[in-house]
Amino acid sequence: MSNYDPVEVTPLHADEMARMQADALDAITAARDLDELKQVRLAHAGDRSPIALANREIGALPPAARAEAGKRIGGARKAVADALVRRQAELEAERDERVLVEETVDVTLPADRAPRGARHPLTTLQERIADAFVAMGYEVAEGPELEGEWFNFDALNISPDHPARSEHDTFFVESVESGKVLRTQTSPVQIRALLSRRLPVYVISPGKVFRTDELDATHTPVFHQVEGLAIDEGLTMAHLKGTLDRFAEVMFGEGITTRFRPNYFPFTEPSAEMDLKCFVCRGASAVPGNPPCRTCKSEGWIEWGGCGMVNPRVLIACGVDPGRYSGFAFGMGIERTLMFRHNVEDMRDMVEGDVRFTLPFGMEI
Ligand SMILES: [Zn+2]
Repeated sequence: MSNYDPVEVTPLHADEMARMQADALDAITAARDLDELKQVRLAHAGDRSPIALANREIGALPPAARAEAGKRIGGARKAVADALVRRQAELEAERDERVLVEETVDVTLPADRAPRGARHPLTTLQERIADAFVAMGYEVAEGPELEGEWFNFDALNISPDHPARSEHDTFFVESVESGKVLRTQTSPVQIRALLSRRLPVYVISPGKVFRTDELDATHTPVFHQVEGLAIDEGLTMAHLKGTLDRFAEVMFGEGITTRFRPNYFPFTEPSAEMDLKCFVCRGASAVPGNPPCRTCKSEGWIEWGGCGMVNPRVLIACGVDPGRYSGFAFGMGIERTLMFRHNVEDMRDMVEGDVRFTLPFGMEI
């Protein structure tokens, strides 16, 4: 290297230097992103770049020519370095701009993509019923779903040989002899309330009850009742009627007409069935010649629940003096109430748990 003619040190020729500088500047301009620019920097400004290699040849020049060649190389290096700094800044700005666009959060997109459920209408209806009675001064009482036979039957004046006992298609837990049943009605809560509370007692007990029915459009083995009990001095059937009329208005609207029909229940005497005048046809469908009504099956009235004055035998079983205290009790099916209130035609819709059934009832709390 030290012996060749300086005239032949081609890389240091002015034309050659100009070409190397132009190549470098073109490559810098052509770099489309920071990665490409990094490669360009290595190729045109690194230790193995043509300009760096040319710089090494300076020592081969005669001393008089070195200053000129060094100046030329220095100029080329500065031009390339300046171009790299400018292009770096441009590409960084482009990248930042792109990141802002690509990583933008669209705040108008729905934030909650998990499907939303709804409370079951039987739950919300039970709460509405409770609210109606709490407003009348009642308390909500609860009792176990696994109940003793004595509470479910005997204390309610349904003795073992009573026909009503076999009419209740009872689920026995363990053996029949165990005396443990899934309660067939919410009435045992009345007994528990009378045994555990001081008189007077005004309670309602909404809850699940169980009968060995097959699930079909009008039956389900698990359903809900609301039972009410009022024991005080001087209570009469007029108080019962007034209470249930108010309850009917809360459930079905002001101005609803009700009636009592005589009936029989072991735990009340006298007993009655409470009917609502059909709120769809207003009773018109019962008149021959008028269009039929599906809601009341053209009977004009809808049977809603049972009620009556508490049988003194029940009071005695709970240690209450029937000479001093009297009271009334009533019970309604909550599924049945929901069916009338919301025109639900099939019991199975209420137990199958399909959210498409519950959603239209909303999230009422
Ligand atoms: Zn009707």
